[in-house]
Amino acid sequence: MLSHVPDQPVQHSGASSSRDGDAGAPSPGVRVPVRVPGSAPDITIPLSLLPSDGRFGSGPSKVRPDAVDALAAVARSYMGTSHRQAGVRSIVGRLRAGLRSLFSLPDDYEIVLGNGGTTVFWDAAVFGLIERKSQHLSFGEFSSKFASAVAAAPHLDAPDVIDAPPGTHPLPAAREGVDVYALTHNETSTGVMMDVRRPDGAAPESLVAVDATSGAGGLRVDPEEFDCYYFAPQKCFGADGGLWVALCSPAAVERIERISASDRWIPASIDLKTALDNSRLDQTYNTPALATLFLLATQVDWMLEGGGLEFAAGRCDHSAENLYGWAEASSYATPFVAKPDERSRVVGTIDLDPAVDAGTVCQVLRANGVVDTDSYRKLGRNQLRIAMFPAIEPEDIIALTRCIDFVADALS
Ligand SMILES: *Cc1c(COP(=O)(O)O)cnc(C)c1O
Repeated sequence: MLSHVPDQPVQHSGASSSRDGDAGAPSPGVRVPVRVPGSAPDITIPLSLLPSDGRFGSGPSKVRPDAVDALAAVARSYMGTSHRQAGVRSIVGRLRAGLRSLFSLPDDYEIVLGNGGTTVFWDAAVFGLIERKSQHLSFGEFSSKFASAVAAAPHLDAPDVIDAPPGTHPLPAAREGVDVYALTHNETSTGVMMDVRRPDGAAPESLVAVDATSGAGGLRVDPEEFDCYYFAPQKCFGADGGLWVALCSPAAVERIERISASDRWIPASIDLKTALDNSRLDQTYNTPALATLFLLATQVDWMLEGGGLEFAAGRCDHSAENLYGWAEASSYATPFVAKPDERSRVVGTIDLDPAVDAGTVCQVLRANGVVDTDSYRKLGRNQLRIAMFPAIEPEDIIALTRCIDFVADALS
């Protein structure tokens, strides 16, 4: 199981640690984090229980070592070269073609990209996608943030916000005057996923815009059910942040073009029409992070080589079965999301019995090189949050549950 010990992002610095072994010895110049004494109980997880890779964060998330190696291999001819020239543009072209194939997009859908990640895309949508009024399903930190951005915009009507408590999701409701229905495929803060479906009875000219930042590439979706499916690369696409990508239907493109031609003032850096025009030329309006583009294109190719979205989603299904199956059988762990079909297959949230402090479990895991299993802070629960993105080995989820059991046992 431990064929990839060197991939451990944090090497245990204890003198007694045998796991550093030959393979994992820190190379010169690599700073090894030193554990502050007293920061976590001194519990050493046996080597045989550890996952092959210790990264379980929900974003930024595990980047496959092969993707980093591929980047290193082209670094001298690719990094530090112009994004207006053929080299970088061919990567963007490969990325756009790959996404079209991965999501089985109809020919008339377009792939638009720009800088700034999903949070910046929300501002772009406030200016260039929402005509007057949007409806938002608000059921966690991320879905509520987009609604707040809209509420603050003086040129739009107050948004229609439908709330649901953390751990559940609301459903959209067709309402007159709503021209964008804003859904979230996977609420990363709570581990709730929902199906992407057009609201029954919605006006034909209204758009469905889906924040798929943590769902895209790990959950199945039918392009007929959305007009704009947008995401950033640091989650299921196992790349780095700072970029947004939007899969746009002809209706979304028409909306972008119409608003752009109106007299609404739009800041140039978040102008969707400018982004659309540049994307059609396999470019971005301003300088993109070339490493991010490369890692994203490489991950899309990896998914396609494996068999496409079904392959990637299948890996997430497998991981989710491993995680929730363990929690349901456990005496001290329980899936946070009550309804099994709303339990996310890409980000799992697991409540622990009050007798087992989740914060301490996370600290011990971190000291052993298993990182970023902490729950979303503002949720304030005794909870672990575990990413199950396609890059994460389903077997590593099993290994993680064994590590958690070991730590919980050692703490009791
Ligand atoms: C991570 C995340 C975001 C924020 O993405 P950034 O690229 O950091 O702006 C937004 N929505 C969801 C659902 C997310 O998971």
